[in-house]
Amino acid sequence: MLRLLPFLWLAGCLGTAEPETADVPPPALADTASARLAEAPAEPDTTERPPLPDQFVRLSEYAPGIAQEMRYTTAYNFVGEPIDGYLAPECILTERAAEALAAVAADLAPEGLGLKGYDCYRPQQAVDHFARWARGSDASMKTAFYPDEARGALFRRGYIASRSGHSRGSTVDLTLVRLPAADAVLTSFPSPDRLARCDAPRGERLDERDLDMGTAYDCLDPQSATARASGAVARNRQRLKSAMEAHGFRNYSKEWWHFTFWHEPFPGTYRDFPVQ
Ligand SMILES: [Zn+2]
Repeated sequence: MLRLLPFLWLAGCLGTAEPETADVPPPALADTASARLAEAPAEPDTTERPPLPDQFVRLSEYAPGIAQEMRYTTAYNFVGEPIDGYLAPECILTERAAEALAAVAADLAPEGLGLKGYDCYRPQQAVDHFARWARGSDASMKTAFYPDEARGALFRRGYIASRSGHSRGSTVDLTLVRLPAADAVLTSFPSPDRLARCDAPRGERLDERDLDMGTAYDCLDPQSATARASGAVARNRQRLKSAMEAHGFRNYSKEWWHFTFWHEPFPGTYRDFPVQ
């Protein structure tokens, strides 16, 4: 059980400090667990966590050194509210993808680099939520996520689809950070009236505490195309891409942060169990 302690510390940071998660139904016994942690770093009670489908794992238990900032449990995303199906800030992946991701992190560590994940397995109900939003009229988060794209064009441009590879469990959104990776996890986010453009130069956009990737995460804009970069930004994107490719992930060319495991165990299965 000792190996779970680093994970719990990280999960505690995420769970207690994100103000945007107020509307998200808390996971069962979250308050009790937090209080227990605050009193003493006792062994965690994981018995209440619902079982996952066969061959799926929680990355926090599998590779606790990989930081997690699960954005879709918060309101800081392009929809502007917590996304359906995300009941807890947990990165869930197929075991094969998690194993490969742990190997990527191990390769990067000697350089003082680590990984911060933003999204992993995504239930179909979340994908449906995105699609419903795209057909609506809300544009409250436009500046921070699609400054130059019309909301209605996001489908056509390939940023939103009726199905997502994330729902197959072997796709992950992530960035490169300095170690210790947990220090790079944001615990508060700007309110909708204080948004910065996601494609603004570093220092002017939200500081996501990662290496300079040229845009913020989920910036649905041509500037996020992996190859559309120069100088340090190009090198950082390439470092992430080559590290991921070395362990069997392929990048989506329009999004520097999006990678799918080549040998995914369920290439045709789109799932809808909640993230918890
Ligand atoms: Zn993605």
